[in-house]
Amino acid sequence: MQSQPIDFHPPAEEAAPILLPVTTTLFADRADRFAHLADNHSLGEWLSFLGRISRAQHEIIKALPALPLPEAAALEQARIHGMPPLNAASLRRPAAWRFALQQLAQRLQNDAPDAAQAVLKTLLSASDEELDRLADMLLKGEPDMASAAQLPFVAAALQVVFTRLAGQLDARPLQKLDSHGVCPCCGSLPVSSVVRLGAAINNLRYLHCSLCNTEWNVSRATCTTCDTDKEVALHEIEGSKGAVRAETCDACKSYLKIVYQEKDPKVDPVADDLATLPLDMLVDEAGYERSGPNLLLIGAHSG
Ligand SMILES: [Zn+2]
Ligand SMILES: [Zn+2]
Repeated sequence: MQSQPIDFHPPAEEAAPILLPVTTTLFADRADRFAHLADNHSLGEWLSFLGRISRAQHEIIKALPALPLPEAAALEQARIHGMPPLNAASLRRPAAWRFALQQLAQRLQNDAPDAAQAVLKTLLSASDEELDRLADMLLKGEPDMASAAQLPFVAAALQVVFTRLAGQLDARPLQKLDSHGVCPCCGSLPVSSVVRLGAAINNLRYLHCSLCNTEWNVSRATCTTCDTDKEVALHEIEGSKGAVRAETCDACKSYLKIVYQEKDPKVDPVADDLATLPLDMLVDEAGYERSGPNLLLIGAHSG
């Protein structure tokens, strides 16, 4: 494992503090990235299936009509109280999420590994109550590990619906929350962060929401969990060309990955995270705990 001091770039004043998801391209780009990463990878088959899940998410979000946002007064209340407007733990979820799940299961059914086919069948025959129960627990951060194999698909459908909702918000009144480690749209934890290329946002670091794919600016060289700027270090696996690193914090013993567009413009905060699991193992073994989930892997640690 290699470590190096952090290169600090102060954020430019005109940079957007929050980037809402671009729903027309986001999941399609992720599907392409998974397909690319699957080539010659020891987990190629799995990454390739995740690519097909992302492709299905793209097809579903493309066909999904606009969803009902909270009333203007509720959005204003959230803004005044510094709360996320689409708080995932409490928002009345549009019934469309179950439609998204059904679509996902149908699209993947004939194109999934054997074990996944049985899981998709179970999901297609589950009652609305059961599906809502799985979604509620997952969104409250207490996923039902007795149904672990179903959770990545439940999460993928929820991602579609929350990404669609976030994409419908007006970015102007949105503000970062006091707790900058949670998503300013839906209150979920980040999956990883991305150091971006591009005018006005060049070299800035954005945390990427694990659920709604919104991004928010957080200064580099700061722990995204406890805010310290003193005990943070970057690690990478030898030969990884620096596109994905793990940022560890010795103050709170947490870590999260950072992906760098400068090293690879097509890097994706979700796909590249899952293609670099050996890096998680290294920092896990060194005693750091991951601070945000990758929802496409949720349930995998239940044994
Ligand atoms: Zn979010
Ligand atoms: Zn920390």
